[in-house]
Amino acid sequence: MGGSRVIPTDVRIIAATNRDLAGAIASGTFRADLFYRLNVFPIRVPPLRNREEDIPMLVEYLVKRYAEKARKQISAIDKDTLKLCQSYPWPGNIRELQNIIERSVILCTGDTFWIDVEFSSALGRLAGRHTCNLTQSKENGMTNHVRPYEPLTSQNAAFPWSTLAIALVSATTLPIRADQARSTQGQSNTSTSKAGRTTQKTSLRWDVFLAPSIPAITSDLPPGEKQRPWPPISSTLISGERDAVLVDTPITVEQARALANWVVASGKNLTTIYASHGHGDHFFGTSTVLERFPNARFVARPEVIQIMRQQASPESLATFWNPRFPDQISSHLAIAEDLTGNVIDLEGHDLVSVPLGFTDTANTTCLHVPAIGLIVAGDAAYNGVHLHLSESPDQQKRQQWIAALDKMESLKPRAVIAGHKRVGNDDSPKILSETRRYIKAPLVRTLGSASASARSKTC
Ligand SMILES: [Zn+2]
Repeated sequence: MGGSRVIPTDVRIIAATNRDLAGAIASGTFRADLFYRLNVFPIRVPPLRNREEDIPMLVEYLVKRYAEKARKQISAIDKDTLKLCQSYPWPGNIRELQNIIERSVILCTGDTFWIDVEFSSALGRLAGRHTCNLTQSKENGMTNHVRPYEPLTSQNAAFPWSTLAIALVSATTLPIRADQARSTQGQSNTSTSKAGRTTQKTSLRWDVFLAPSIPAITSDLPPGEKQRPWPPISSTLISGERDAVLVDTPITVEQARALANWVVASGKNLTTIYASHGHGDHFFGTSTVLERFPNARFVARPEVIQIMRQQASPESLATFWNPRFPDQISSHLAIAEDLTGNVIDLEGHDLVSVPLGFTDTANTTCLHVPAIGLIVAGDAAYNGVHLHLSESPDQQKRQQWIAALDKMESLKPRAVIAGHKRVGNDDSPKILSETRRYIKAPLVRTLGSASASARSKTC
């Protein structure tokens, strides 16, 4: 607006109203020409009472939304509440449903959602009054049956939630749910707890969120080019029955919001965020994720925190990160606190922080989950994308990186998740030998850091 240049755009305008526009045009309160411009493809949305089958999904979605807002853990919906919602005529439509749910979530104690007594009796009365209408509609050949409802904790109920949550994510950062846990090891095994009692361990699973490649603005490029794609960045969610641990977060606020939505959609309680190493592109998003999970701890090894502080310093932000991702990085970066003891507990399972020394930068680590044979490798392993070699131009540092790969291999993992991976690649442990081959390749060894990045340009 107000510029002298024409900026081509491709937009679709969706306008909504609950007014009688024909009447408004007739009375001169709505411009007829505007109406004809907008009225290309009218969609009539029936009132809520005429689409009772949508109510369970809407209730579920709204409960989740308001539970999150109220910071409550609600994992199931009371069946009678749902029946009530389906039989009430909702004269105020979706807004009325929304308000009643918001209010009831605030009043709700425990993990099952129900509509408070005062409201439900009012709803019940109205629903009772409405019965005759329902009978009439039955006579007109419409059915009005109340279906049994699966609690949110069941597998089936997971679907609409995640679909809805993902639908709210902006199109440019659609999360790619690249992997599902395949391991069943650790399921139902028993172990003796520290207190000496035998406890039932729950099974663990892992999922990868891949923030797709985004352009980085840089002048360090062949003539005529201004930006270089930053490779996709992975974040791994390791989850038990109820709790979850997240490893690494991407760079930008937008990527981190999409990641947070994805974690919310998992329905898990995020207890911990672990940073595998100090590179900004693996932790700058953490403060944004923590806004959604304020009770989660953000932890790293002390030597990783040292690198983090350098990366988040005003100089590093001003000279490296902000020019590449202008106005995209949070202005309040979170720095991890010391992980004491090198182990994160997840429902009785050990998630072990393993120091790896120098890989693509100093003081890197991986997170090893013996129960499911998983290694979350951070930048110590790459998967289908070029390695960042400019911090390790000499043989000595490359030898350290290779030693780190050997160390991970000795843990005999069944899955290895790289900090940067190509979309669609699986997380096979073979990426360890692929990374080793890349480092040892004669082309890389003979080229300096600048040429190594130029190589990544030309491939
Ligand atoms: Zn990285």
